Amino acid sequence: MNIEIDEVIQLSIILPAYNDAKNVDVILPKLYSFLESRADCSEVILVDDGSKDNLYDVFAKQSQLTPKNVTLNLVQLSRNFGKEAALSAGLEEASGQLVAMMDSDGQHPISVLDEMLNVIEHSPVDMVAAVQETRAYESIFLKLYKNIFYRFMQDSQRYQLEPHAGDFRVMKRKVVDALLNLPERQRFMKGLYSWVGFKALYVPFQAEQRIEGKSSFNFSHLFELALIAITSFSVKPLRWISRMGFLVSIMAILYGLFIIADTIFFGRDLEGWPTLAVGIMFSAGLQLICLGVIGEYIGRIYDEVKQRPLYIVDKKWDSKKQD
Ligand code: UDP
Ligand code: MG
Repeated sequence: MNIEIDEVIQLSIILPAYNDAKNVDVILPKLYSFLESRADCSEVILVDDGSKDNLYDVFAKQSQLTPKNVTLNLVQLSRNFGKEAALSAGLEEASGQLVAMMDSDGQHPISVLDEMLNVIEHSPVDMVAAVQETRAYESIFLKLYKNIFYRFMQDSQRYQLEPHAGDFRVMKRKVVDALLNLPERQRFMKGLYSWVGFKALYVPFQAEQRIEGKSSFNFSHLFELALIAITSFSVKPLRWISRMGFLVSIMAILYGLFIIADTIFFGRDLEGWPTLAVGIMFSAGLQLICLGVIGEYIGRIYDEVKQRPLYIVDKKWDSKKQD
């Protein structure tokens, strides 16, 4: 009943999942009917990013229900490695000519996937990404934070990060191969999509509410991701701290000259220790900030030189090989 082994997979859909088994169970039947209507030979790749729920059971059930032209795969990672690593695991596994990625919590509508596939199939582009338009469910604080982040990341003249374009996208094989060729361990995918280049188009969309559960990306997670993004895509902070050091030195020289002039011309004595204390505290604080910034970059280098794999696969399952 299932597809022939040697048939070429046209479309791979990657679903990274962390504790989203219930949501996957809701999404898969919808994806199946969408893929069945397209009639192309397709595969859905579930990446279990160390979930604590029963994603395997959902896989076992859903792998019995696949349409003729669809294969369901499950890649189980040995622990939770994070969404960026889970996506890389999915990309490595995908064999389709077109590869799509979407969240497994129901926030990414299939109608938008359909639209993106139409665009990539009918226009000369290599990648189509969905850009989140209104984000009503996000707090003002989070919106502001994301806006500042994207402003900061508009760094290079050679490639631009499209604000609010996330991992919900469709890519041609050559883009996927280029992404897989990037050796870095700390992966900020949104930056890598821009870095590899190729012709990209963006379609606006409105994210839906999560079907169940809550987002794993809380503020501190996002902050960590922002640090990875900034330190792996920009040396601006390093330039800033050297400029800051320069500025503070000039201020110190000017203040020194002022004190000398004040004493020589007006005969005023030096005002005791408060000035000294403030000066010391100011420069000590500044030095700690600078050390922290340099430390972030050294931390990144430390992570990279270890050359550990991005993720470890525990087991792989394939609906074609299930009985
Ligand atoms: N996810 C993952 N590993 C993680 C965290 C999240 O694979 O460590 C998956 C999750 O199952 C979902 C997608 O990444 O399919 C987006 O996660 P989430 O909904 O928590 O984030 P948000 O929608 O707020 O960006
Ligand atoms: Mg989500």
